[in-house]
Amino acid sequence: MTKDAGRIYLSSPHMSGKEQQYVDDAFQSNWIAPLGPHVDAFEKEIANYVQSAGAVAMCSGTAAIHLSLRLLGVGKGDTVFCSTLTFVASANPILYQGAEPVFIDSEPMSWNMSPVALKHAFVHADNTGKLPKAVIVVNLYGQNADMDPLLALCNEYNVPVIEDAAESLGATYRNKASGTFGKFGIYSFNGNKMITTSGGGMLVSNDLEALEKARFWATQARDSARHYEHSEVGYNYRLSNVLAAIGRAQLQVLEDRITARRTVFERYYSELGDIDGIRFLSEASYGRCTRWLTALIIDPTKLGVSVDQVIDELALYNIEARPVWKPMHLQPLFKHYLYFVHGDSSISDSLFNNGICLPSGSNLTQEDQKFVIACFKRAIVQKKP
Ligand SMILES: *Cc1c(COP(=O)(O)O)cnc(C)c1O
Repeated sequence: MTKDAGRIYLSSPHMSGKEQQYVDDAFQSNWIAPLGPHVDAFEKEIANYVQSAGAVAMCSGTAAIHLSLRLLGVGKGDTVFCSTLTFVASANPILYQGAEPVFIDSEPMSWNMSPVALKHAFVHADNTGKLPKAVIVVNLYGQNADMDPLLALCNEYNVPVIEDAAESLGATYRNKASGTFGKFGIYSFNGNKMITTSGGGMLVSNDLEALEKARFWATQARDSARHYEHSEVGYNYRLSNVLAAIGRAQLQVLEDRITARRTVFERYYSELGDIDGIRFLSEASYGRCTRWLTALIIDPTKLGVSVDQVIDELALYNIEARPVWKPMHLQPLFKHYLYFVHGDSSISDSLFNNGICLPSGSNLTQEDQKFVIACFKRAIVQKKP
């Protein structure tokens, strides 16, 4: 049985059928542990897919961000720059390390980190004599940030980048895999992402020594000795061999999943793209967007309806839609930290106020999508031209 047979979800797990075979293999060999041959193979296969020197499988994308920060020596009193328009998991690990986040606005085209706002933040940090220890660049909704100008700034100030590619596995930037532009990159295999292990994550880098250290910390920091010997604090952050088995089968169908999600986007675009007062997140010319979620901006004055009203209306038909991420600088948890805007006003605020994500799963049927489109059209009250 499915969770709720009638409900149309934003992004639900999409199994290929081959996962069971891999899981059976894990059971037959009794590798039901947070390490094992599927974990090793999954790491190699991801590293090979994104062309990074290595990868470490983790229990979540959040854990991978946390260990990246620790690898970069982020600690108490340090600051870390982070995209404001993101899921809270991008920023929480900054607090785990006792450091302070500084939030950076989006730019209007890709919705990702604005190089203009990043420049303001660097100039301010330089003037106050305290540069950040790291910059977390987030790639939203399956689209890469414009890395060239962002990396140029980070290199100018000699600050390493962590790329949060939790939502962008399979995307590209200038023909190179999303997640491979910083010192570290992270992916998520949470249930709602491009591919899933139910829960899981991956840390990638070209620095194999750093990855070895992450593997050590993620396995309770066990020193090599017959007894249990520990000289550093560690975590229980590794991915289970059973879940890695699911991930391996999922990775084999990643390209199909990208095609399916891009097709979902195309259908929304062809049905709704002409409506005055609707603007879809555009695909940047610098690379492939996976269209993890189809996101669009509505103009409430032109359509006579707010994002909340549209979401409420869709909910009446058992359709799950969501606002665009609520920016971190607006969150009660983070409101006391610094925030740098792109221009005269905050871009991320307006994206949040008027942005909506529609059901975008790779398993969304054409019939269900037609229903979503019809309900969406009913929800917006179009003014006559
Ligand atoms: C999902 C997500 C994460 C966290 O990944 P988990 O595997 O759920 O810990 C981090 N950042 C972004 C932008 C995400 O969407």
